[in-house]
Amino acid sequence: MERILASIVVIDDVAPIPGADLIEVATVKGWKLVIKKGEYQPGDAAIYCEIDSFLPVTPDFEFLRKSSYRKMGDTEGFRLKTLKLRGQISQGLLLPVDMLNGHVHTLGEDVTAKLGIIKYEAPIPASLAGIMKGGFPSFIPKTDEERIQNLSGEYDTFRTHPCYVTEKLDGSSVTYYHRDGEFGVCSRNLELRESDDNTLWKVARKLDIPGKLAALGSNIAVQGELIGEGIQGNPYDLRGQTVYFFNAFNINAGEYLSMPAFLALMQELTLQHVPVLEETFLLPDTIGELLSFAEGAALLSPANKRVEREGLVIRSADRRISFKVISNKFLLGEA
Ligand code: ATP
Ligand code: MN
Ligand code: MN
Repeated sequence: MERILASIVVIDDVAPIPGADLIEVATVKGWKLVIKKGEYQPGDAAIYCEIDSFLPVTPDFEFLRKSSYRKMGDTEGFRLKTLKLRGQISQGLLLPVDMLNGHVHTLGEDVTAKLGIIKYEAPIPASLAGIMKGGFPSFIPKTDEERIQNLSGEYDTFRTHPCYVTEKLDGSSVTYYHRDGEFGVCSRNLELRESDDNTLWKVARKLDIPGKLAALGSNIAVQGELIGEGIQGNPYDLRGQTVYFFNAFNINAGEYLSMPAFLALMQELTLQHVPVLEETFLLPDTIGELLSFAEGAALLSPANKRVEREGLVIRSADRRISFKVISNKFLLGEA
């Protein structure tokens, strides 16, 4: 699903920042952002743009040039990143609804395209991009996780479910499947043709994933995070590349395996899964506390270096609840 980067929101709260006279902190769902004092009041409607928004170069957004001008390929724009101002984390941007030029808006409405906003994405190296064989198979869901800040309405229900907490690895998504005798390899959005130098295929061959999936004798997909040299700057300082899995999908049934069934399958196939930190975790009272819990050292940190983990992915055993909690420390350290 395309990410909704800009939408109509109601400001939930506005509070002072200790020691700051000219700015204050607004709460929008599970997000906190710094605003000019008096700019918005609780209950006001506004446009909220999430981090990773790439806003077009237009007069409306020129005020962002100094802080946010960036190129994405050949396209110029303004990129919204996580900031810290006077000790306060600030994520995203509020804009007045007037900017929609009288367009009649509704709460929750997606105005991303209307404002010409696209998602800021770093370029993908050729060894990962590969050569397209086809679109992403329609019989497998793409990998994705929603951010907890956008699920504040559901948070209290989530709290009644014991959850698996896994570490979110900072790499590149891969899907391997076996279906009716055929083996396939897919990146985030495409199925890839077999080649000698494509990293996704290399790792498949090295770990004998085609053989292992075929031996199961059923139609199945496994999804994981590729990490290592040439991927996301190799934060874990690995040699070569490998994969840590986080999903198994039963293609015939059209459903994911539960977390316990997935972990058992990984053991049976002798494949690595993402690190599991907790198996019966109960969420803390607030999203703020959960965001603090997401900060920490990556379990794959190299021996002499503490690497901040990207965050956590939290799921109920049946997987009906599943979301990511990105570490703000990680985001503040991003290029
Ligand atoms: P966004 O939607 O926030 O713009 P994105 O869709 O590119 O970003 P990520 O922020 O990387 O994705 O979050 C989802 C991805 O996290 C999954 O597609 C998967 O590749 C990856 N991932 C890494 N570790 C895990 C894990 N432990 N559990 C589930 N997914 C994981
Ligand atoms: Mn996503
Ligand atoms: Mn990622």
